[in-house]
Amino acid sequence: MKNYDVIIVGAGTAGMTAAIYALRGGKKTLILERENIGGQIALSPKVQNIPSIFEISGGEFADRLFSQISDLGVDFELEEVLKIEKSDNSFKVITDYNEYAASAVILASGVKHRKLNVPGEEKFLGKGVYYCALCDGAFYTGREVALVGDGNTALQYALMLSDIASKLTVVTMFDKFFGEKALENALRAKANVEIISDYVAEEILGGDEFTGVRFKKTKGEGTFDLSAAALFVAIGQVADDALYKDLVETDKQGFILTDEMMRTDVPGLYAAGDCRVKNVRQLTTAASDGAVAATDALAYIATL
Ligand SMILES: Cc1cc2nc3c(=O)[nH]c(=O)nc-3n(C[C@H](O)[C@H](O)[C@H](O)COP(=O)(O)OP(=O)(O)OC[C@H]3O[C@@H](n4cnc5c(N)ncnc54)[C@H](O)[C@@H]3O)c2cc1C
Repeated sequence: MKNYDVIIVGAGTAGMTAAIYALRGGKKTLILERENIGGQIALSPKVQNIPSIFEISGGEFADRLFSQISDLGVDFELEEVLKIEKSDNSFKVITDYNEYAASAVILASGVKHRKLNVPGEEKFLGKGVYYCALCDGAFYTGREVALVGDGNTALQYALMLSDIASKLTVVTMFDKFFGEKALENALRAKANVEIISDYVAEEILGGDEFTGVRFKKTKGEGTFDLSAAALFVAIGQVADDALYKDLVETDKQGFILTDEMMRTDVPGLYAAGDCRVKNVRQLTTAASDGAVAATDALAYIATL
C-alpha cells in the first residue's frame, strides 16, 4: 500500500488549491479524481469573477491549476474513492483500483446535479435528458431543445444552447430568473428563445425514444406537452454524500459540517469546497477552503 502525508479526494478548485498548500508545505500529496480535472468549472465557457483575472474559460482555469500542482510534484490518479477508513493515526483510502494510506485526508468532492424526480427521467437519462449542456448540447445542433432552470447555470447553459439549437424553450418555475441580470438580458435578446414561466416538469414523454416533456402549472391547474429533441435540466445541486455519510457529521441535506479550519468531527479528516455546509459555493470560496484545510492538515500532521 502506498503511503502519503495527505490524500485529497477530488481535483476541483478546492482540492487542487489544497494540493498547492500541502505540496508547498513539503508534504507527499496524492489527488484522486474520478471524472475530470477541474471539477464543475472545467465545463464553464466563461468565468469572470476570479480576482485579477478579467475573463478565463473554466477549462483553461482548470488546466492552469493542474499545471501548477504538477509542477509542485503532486501524485495524481484517475480513480474513484469508494471508502475511507480511519484506524489510530492513519487513514486507509480505498479506490476502484487501489488502496492508499495517509496521515490526513481532505474531502473536496463537490456536489451532484439535482434531478427532477419525475417519471421517465431515469429511462431517458443520456438519451434525451441531460444535466450538462456543455457536454451534450452539441449533439442537438440545429434542433429544437428545451431547458428547465432559472439560476446562473441555467442562464449560461441557455445562452450556449441558443447558439447551436434552431429553437430553445426555457421553462422556469416562477415568473423570474434568479441569476445575473446581464445573462438574463442576453438570453431575452435571443430571437430563437421562448421563455415559459410558472411551470414545472411533470413527466418525460416518449415510448422507445424521448419525444418531449409534460409540464404542469406551478400553482393551480393546467398542463402542456412540449415536443423537443432533448431536455437540459439545470435546477441546482445537491450533496453527493454516498462516500462520506457514515464517516463524518453532515447536515440534513448531506453537506459536511466543519469548523472554520475545515476540520470535520474526525481528527485528520477535512472538508473543503462545495461539499461542506456553507452559504456561498464559488471558486474563490472553494480555493479559500482548500488553502485553510491544507494549512491545518500540515499542523495536524506535525502533532502525530
Ligand atoms: C456551469 C457552472 C458554472 C459556474 N460558474 C462559476 C463562475 O463563473 N464563478 C464561480 O466562482 N463559480 C462558478 N461555478 C461554481 C464553481 O464551479 C464551484 O463552486 C466550484 O467548482 C466548487 O469547487 P469544488 O472543488 O468544491 O468542487 P467541484 O468543482 O465539484 O470538484 C469536485 C471534484 O471531486 C470529484 N469527486 C467527487 N467524488 C469523488 C470520489 N468519490 N472520488 C474521486 N473524485 C471524486 C468530482 O469528480 C469533481 O471533479 C459554476 C458551476 C457550474 C456548474
